[in-house]
Amino acid sequence: MLDQDCLFCKIIQKKIPAELVFEDDQTLVFKDIYPKASIHLLVIPKKHVSGVTDPHSLVEINAIWSTINKVTEKLAIKDKGFRLVINSGHDGRQEVNHLHFHILAGERLKVL
Ligand code: 5GP
Ligand code: ZN
Repeated sequence: MLDQDCLFCKIIQKKIPAELVFEDDQTLVFKDIYPKASIHLLVIPKKHVSGVTDPHSLVEINAIWSTINKVTEKLAIKDKGFRLVINSGHDGRQEVNHLHFHILAGERLKVL
């Protein structure tokens, strides 16, 4: 379920502090420690899933999608807009091997 060596599993267990924005049974949302936009959040499942290529990631998607909608509504960025990013693997520069969606918002973002 949880991986004792995983940074985000430690945040789930509150062993490492994080600025929480939202929490429910299946997901957790907290501020990225090195924000790349004025709003930069990370949405994670509470189960350890290594990333999008992990077959178990599909099971978590409904809950993550629902949380993204609740959080963007709460922060009043749902209508203004936001960007979702998932990095995968070495070339995609995934640093933490626990599935996470980046939510970037707060201003008009640069074209990718
Ligand atoms: P990745 O590159 O794996 O897609 O993204 C990992 C993200 O986690 C990075 O944007 C990085 O700034 C963030 N991060 C790394 N360590 C911590 C931490 O200890 N706390 C928080 N809140 N974010 C972290
Ligand atoms: Zn983990």
